[in-house]
Amino acid sequence: MQKVKFIMNPSLLSRLVMVLAIVLSLVAIFTVVLWHGDRGTKISEPAECKTMVVVASGDTLGKILIDQGLNNSDVNTIADMLKKNAGISTLRADSDKIEFVRADEKSPVSKIVVIPSPWKQVELTCAENGGWNCNTIEVERDTRAVYKSGEIKNGDSFYLAGIRAGIPAGILIDVFDLLAFEMDFERDVRAGQHFSVLYEENFADGEKVDNGHVLAVQFEALRGNVKMYRFKKSDGTTGYYDENGNGAIKSLKRTPINNAKVTSNFSTSRKHPVLGFTRAHKGVDFRASTGTPIPAAGAGRVVARGFNRGHGNYVKIRHNGTFETLYAHMSKFAKGVNVGTTVRQGQTIGYVGSTGLSTGPHLHYEVIKNGTHVNPLTVKLPAINNLGDADKKKFIEYRKTLDGGIEQLTKNKNWFIQM
Ligand SMILES: [Zn+2]
Repeated sequence: MQKVKFIMNPSLLSRLVMVLAIVLSLVAIFTVVLWHGDRGTKISEPAECKTMVVVASGDTLGKILIDQGLNNSDVNTIADMLKKNAGISTLRADSDKIEFVRADEKSPVSKIVVIPSPWKQVELTCAENGGWNCNTIEVERDTRAVYKSGEIKNGDSFYLAGIRAGIPAGILIDVFDLLAFEMDFERDVRAGQHFSVLYEENFADGEKVDNGHVLAVQFEALRGNVKMYRFKKSDGTTGYYDENGNGAIKSLKRTPINNAKVTSNFSTSRKHPVLGFTRAHKGVDFRASTGTPIPAAGAGRVVARGFNRGHGNYVKIRHNGTFETLYAHMSKFAKGVNVGTTVRQGQTIGYVGSTGLSTGPHLHYEVIKNGTHVNPLTVKLPAINNLGDADKKKFIEYRKTLDGGIEQLTKNKNWFIQM
């Protein structure tokens, strides 16, 4: 144990020192660039003329190229090249961009840069004989792990507290997805609880482009501190694990719809809001507006899809020999979801509604274990994707290193871990 610590700490320290050095040198470079840029703009302004086109819905490659003055033969050549060299056969509206470069305003297009993602560019250059050359460029990604932590205040939701802590909305959604296996955001969130997230930020040329994965998350839930770490196994697949290397992703989600408020809990006796007499509530109700997609709580096979007086439109999924889940009061079923359909975890199976015995739009969610209804929020759920012995050993070492890094980051708010 002592030896591991001894090996880990110096390398981690040197890494953090390196990060500090990088930060300092970036400040220096940035200052130089600023100064340089200021002085150079007037003299070295390139004469070429650039036009950026963002693909709109209804656009085709042909239409965009013809609009820029290219002919049909160019369109065919370029479409072929994009397909063969870059695997691009369709353009995505509001996402793909195409840049046209001309020597000057009146010249024909000499270069076309297709930008399907911030990390990839396809450059098509017009040769002197009128033909085109194609070159795919992978943009170099500089990934940094950043750490953010926060506290739940009175009247807060986890989402609000997360935004206040500076965690990007997209990362918070990933965190919801992860924690939904372990906790219920309605009942498990209280003022005074602390949480933290270590996640990736991707930079290109010193500018932040997007966020990457959640690397570690920690939440002081009522049932204890929930910790999850992202780890790459020796077979190349990644998963999330708890401190001890047990799979953190459970076979079922306790709350299929993220962040939905629990309006009625599992109970063996409650007064039914429609029927008026006392009757067991064999599931949990989540408030959600009509039309909200309902994701499958786990992977499995649809064993029932139909209507009955109580449940209204409902879907039942069999996950394994032990667990089944049922989703009721749907306004409609998702396309392609029929009895016998195999669904993956998170796949939309239907949409929230108020069909059957229901007083308003909500999801009624049941978990059935060996034929008996159980409380979805408390039932012990099996983990999937557990680690083998060798991977577990590696995980524990990695986790200790990462925890050491996180400890440094808590003390130095502006530091990051260079990945
Ligand atoms: Zn219900």
